[in-house]
Amino acid sequence: MLINLEALDQMFMDSPAPSHLTYDGRCRSCGQEFRIEIDHHISGGYGLAGGVLYMQEADKLTAICEACYRSNPELEA
Ligand SMILES: [Zn+2]
Repeated sequence: MLINLEALDQMFMDSPAPSHLTYDGRCRSCGQEFRIEIDHHISGGYGLAGGVLYMQEADKLTAICEACYRSNPELEA
């Protein structure tokens, strides 16, 4: 499933920057290393750019790059 708000809240709680962080990972689909930029909006909510994060298990994230996500949005982690 897609990453949930609680997990994003936790990521930002652990981050020194309160409104922006990056996730460096390897795409599960194509194997390329890439970066996801995550913005925490003051109004609430999160914006992800560059790829998609999935939760496989409680605290295990899987990343998929934007190109793969676009070519196959149904991809399940
Ligand atoms: Zn990819």
